[in-house]
Amino acid sequence: MYCHWFQPMASSGVRHGLTGQVHNMMLEFDANMEVKQDFKGKTLIKGETDGSSYPNGGLRGTHQAGGYLAIDTSSPIFCRGDTIFIPSAFVSYYGAALDEKTPLLRANAAIDKEGSRLFSLLGLDCSTGVQTNIGLEQEIFLIPRDQYYRRPDLQFAGRTIMGKNAPRGQEMCDHYMAPLSTATAALACMQEIQDEAWRIGIPLKTRHREVAPNQFEFAPLFGTNTTQIDQNIMVMQIIEETAAKHGLAALLQEKPFNGVNGSGKHNNWSIATRAGVQVFNPNAVLAATKNEAAFPIIMAAVVSAVDEHGDLMRMAIANPGNDFRLGACEAPPAIVSTYLGDDMTNYLEAFMNGSTAKYEPGVKTLDLGTREVLPFEVPAEDRNRTSPFPYGGARFEFRAVGSSQNVSLVNTVLNTICAEKFAEFADKIEAGADPSEVAREALKKHWKVIFNGNNYDPANQQMLTDRGVWRIDSGVEAMSRMTAPKNIALFEKMGVFTTDELTARQDVILGHYTGTVEMEAFTMIDMINQHVIPSCKAAGLGPVAELEAAVGTIKAAISGIHHADSPLDAAQLARVLRLETMIDIRAICDAAEEVVPADLWTLATYKELLFLDSHTVTEPDYFGE
Ligand code: ADP
Ligand code: MG
Repeated sequence: MYCHWFQPMASSGVRHGLTGQVHNMMLEFDANMEVKQDFKGKTLIKGETDGSSYPNGGLRGTHQAGGYLAIDTSSPIFCRGDTIFIPSAFVSYYGAALDEKTPLLRANAAIDKEGSRLFSLLGLDCSTGVQTNIGLEQEIFLIPRDQYYRRPDLQFAGRTIMGKNAPRGQEMCDHYMAPLSTATAALACMQEIQDEAWRIGIPLKTRHREVAPNQFEFAPLFGTNTTQIDQNIMVMQIIEETAAKHGLAALLQEKPFNGVNGSGKHNNWSIATRAGVQVFNPNAVLAATKNEAAFPIIMAAVVSAVDEHGDLMRMAIANPGNDFRLGACEAPPAIVSTYLGDDMTNYLEAFMNGSTAKYEPGVKTLDLGTREVLPFEVPAEDRNRTSPFPYGGARFEFRAVGSSQNVSLVNTVLNTICAEKFAEFADKIEAGADPSEVAREALKKHWKVIFNGNNYDPANQQMLTDRGVWRIDSGVEAMSRMTAPKNIALFEKMGVFTTDELTARQDVILGHYTGTVEMEAFTMIDMINQHVIPSCKAAGLGPVAELEAAVGTIKAAISGIHHADSPLDAAQLARVLRLETMIDIRAICDAAEEVVPADLWTLATYKELLFLDSHTVTEPDYFGE
């Protein structure tokens, strides 16, 4: 079998697998119904599909439903089971992007072109071209599958929309990097996930337990962005499949549980020439160019891009699950600054003020004063986990990205905003400006986006807001930045999106948000009617009248959303329903859970869902039977 394997627009989130695929046999039947082997080269490079039920934001109608699948040669074909998967771009008959991949490929072309232009002017050999590499850390929850079946919200929405906190959470910091013990199914499950991934060429190098109970992480070896994204999507599918085999359910959503950490997908991102020079590595750039100004000029362009287009970075991470995660003292806030560390900041500041000195990162020696552990060297730079976009030597780490996301849009944005700045710098230099002066001017203008302090501190957040750093608290508002005039101009100029594509995509993203909230709201109604109220009645206590009134409130809100005038209005109403109304109603449900006796409470509790360690019921097989 073979299939053209694609990623429909807005296919981020709770759908199993996140991809589109139709499996075809490599066989033909002739007039005599004789079977013959048939698979031609042209079948490999292009496919046609209907696929018209996928969201398209008006880019196709049923009378113009042709969709085309074209092989993406940047990401390897792979075989899994009986099927060959051909990574493909998915576009309309008129060439409009209907998927996540096409804009990313265009953004890659933009950074290749503009990066090569600027870096060549700085003395770097770009004859092989410029590319970006990413490495995606994937956080997940693994919970007992039998309990998962007792939670309609986890099944439909991927997160608990009610549920009283368990008496134990993460207060002892006893889960993070704790032993992956064989006492639960999680270790065997993770081993099998790695094994399955390895079979199709995906090296998940790192595995560990994360901060919340039942939370885990995998990290692969980094590589080109299209390949990494395709592989990450496959890894998410393998995680779900393998968890089921081990009596577990995998939760990929950003915030499955209140009161404990949510899950992210740190997007480690770097730019390199195809010959392998890492442009965020100061020593590598200096060695390759012999030009001391090359590295700070490149950094100045990136800093400028983040300052100017932080709204787009915020937009790219505005998926529904991140509503509950950003700014919650576990993930960076909705304010887009960048951490460079003191050494790098001081160096760039000196450069901005005219210095031409070389970057000498400090090292310091740690001496524990023991004979057994000898003194050793560490970088003078610390790490900052509160920054949305910290520099970490050779790479930036976009930490605010959500765990369930297809990160194509994230990387489309990063590459486009940098490509634009590279182009702007190159234009000025080609017109005769001094490269260092161009960079100094840009640094002066955009210096405010550099922030090395604690991003979780409300006083700092206020300070950054007052400085005018991009801050968009509402995810829905962030989504609507896609069609802000400045951003339309940017994407058009870099050849990444047309105006029509942006308008369509924004509607699709907003619709995806509203649809998510609607599913959650209907699930909440069912859970209240079918579980919470009956449990209260059986126990003869609890806020029954309030619960009955709450059902009416949710229904009225859903009806309001259905009657909204535009996708943006609908999403704004959905956001209020989700983050205000449903949170208030959740408090009523959780108050009921607090008083109803355990044997009358019919939903799985946080205690039952979150502690695999307390589910070790397997009897040892003493007699070897
Ligand atoms: P940590 O959590 O300590 O930052 P991990 O090992 O969990 O580190 O994950 C780091 C990720 O970053 C890995 O996927 C790794 O391959 C990736 N990575 C490392 N260097 C680069 C680079 N230059 N460009 C892109 N990704 C990188
Ligand atoms: Mg990590």
